[in-house]
Amino acid sequence: MDLTTFDYQKLEDKIKTRELSCVDVTRAYLDKIEAARSLNAFISVYKNDALKRAEQVDKKIAANKAGQLAGLVLAVKDVLVVKGGRTTCASKVLSSFISPYDATVIEKLKAQDVIFIGKTNMDEFAMGSSNESSYFGPVKNPRDMDRVPGGSSGGSAAAVAGDLCVAALGSDTGGSIRQPASFCGVVGLKPTYGRVSRFGLVAYASSLDQIGPITKSVSDAARLLTFISGHDHRDSTSANLPVDDYMSYLDQDVKGLRIGLPKEYFAAGLDPQVEKPIREHIDVLQAAGAEIIHVSLPHTEYAIAAYYIIATAEASSNLARFDGARYGVRAQGVKDLEEMYIHSRTQGFGREVKRRIMLGTYVLSSGYYDAYYRKAQKVRTLVKDDFERALSDVDCLLTPVAPTTAFRLNEKLDDPLTMYLSDVYTVSVNLAGLPGISIPCGMDVSGLPVGLQLVGKPFDEGTIIRVADFLEKSH
Ligand code: GLN
Repeated sequence: MDLTTFDYQKLEDKIKTRELSCVDVTRAYLDKIEAARSLNAFISVYKNDALKRAEQVDKKIAANKAGQLAGLVLAVKDVLVVKGGRTTCASKVLSSFISPYDATVIEKLKAQDVIFIGKTNMDEFAMGSSNESSYFGPVKNPRDMDRVPGGSSGGSAAAVAGDLCVAALGSDTGGSIRQPASFCGVVGLKPTYGRVSRFGLVAYASSLDQIGPITKSVSDAARLLTFISGHDHRDSTSANLPVDDYMSYLDQDVKGLRIGLPKEYFAAGLDPQVEKPIREHIDVLQAAGAEIIHVSLPHTEYAIAAYYIIATAEASSNLARFDGARYGVRAQGVKDLEEMYIHSRTQGFGREVKRRIMLGTYVLSSGYYDAYYRKAQKVRTLVKDDFERALSDVDCLLTPVAPTTAFRLNEKLDDPLTMYLSDVYTVSVNLAGLPGISIPCGMDVSGLPVGLQLVGKPFDEGTIIRVADFLEKSH
């Protein structure tokens, strides 16, 4: 059997008993990455560094001093800084930027002897749902090369689905971990806002962004979450709460659990081919003794609009720092400072990023602030209240991840509004700051993966991991 198809659960024993060396495993992935270049999943591959690290980890294993994730070959979305390497955010503006330090999540995983294999492609500054807005070109879906992998963590999801790494890290502002995981047929977990430190994550929309794992199994997601979570004094929004042992939620039953189905998520717009396998999984839960409860999230229809106002407003402010003076690309041949700003930003940013900066600047401008930004914040509160009400009666919610399976490359590129609608089932979860997990649950008639989403109460990743693991093992 090909070892690159293993999740860490399967690989761990073989590595720790030294049946396989970390160097062997790393080399196998590097070969796979080379062979799968047409996927365009990576922006940087850490060929020499990964092998060097693998050698060191092998020595630590021999000396019985290895960390708990020894030999886990990990790909990292290129929006997280890894010291000494490039962090581009898939933008021309940062195409030559070298990270001066490690993000907190990278530091934590380094301490457990994870092996970093490279940085994955993404939508520019994490803005997109198809991975087609990257300066480095689109990523292809390993399940069907004519289709998008989803976005914005499309490179990470494609790398996991294509067996180019054991697992990957992504970031999720409005669905960017869960939606590509669903399109590529892998597991994607977005933790509660504040669960994982964002220090070292290049900000898109700071009040919505979270880092999370994309993996081949729920157990790997649980394990990675256990190690990346926790308070960090360098991120004032990280929660000072104890971290659960998420592995303890695996291999549990679902008897007596109350699972809510929001009616607005099973309405017009949902492809029946997506709905079918989800309904089958609901039956599985019911047969196993879970109680299925019908709930309502009445403000769902306003979520996309509120999200795109809040996310773009925050992005317009966060991206103001890329002005040619401090980071990345600086326009040449300009006559003064003002022209340098204008030309650097004009040359450095792609179309979607510019569209969002303009939209965000507009909704924050004094004449329109109340009509758009303030209104969107009020809607956000209503969306959050909807979830609070629904979740007071159930243990978690079950929904689709996206209305369709992976669409074709170029299909939605010229129609941003239709593209934005692919996030209809994920953005509310970010507006409310809740944890959500996407797991594969079947296929459509073309053999494309369908995802199922579980949404939990704040800081209760445990319950959604428990249900997700149960469903995964019911196959
Ligand atoms: N597709 C959404 C957007 O473009 C979500 C992106 C994300 O989660 N980073 O904003």
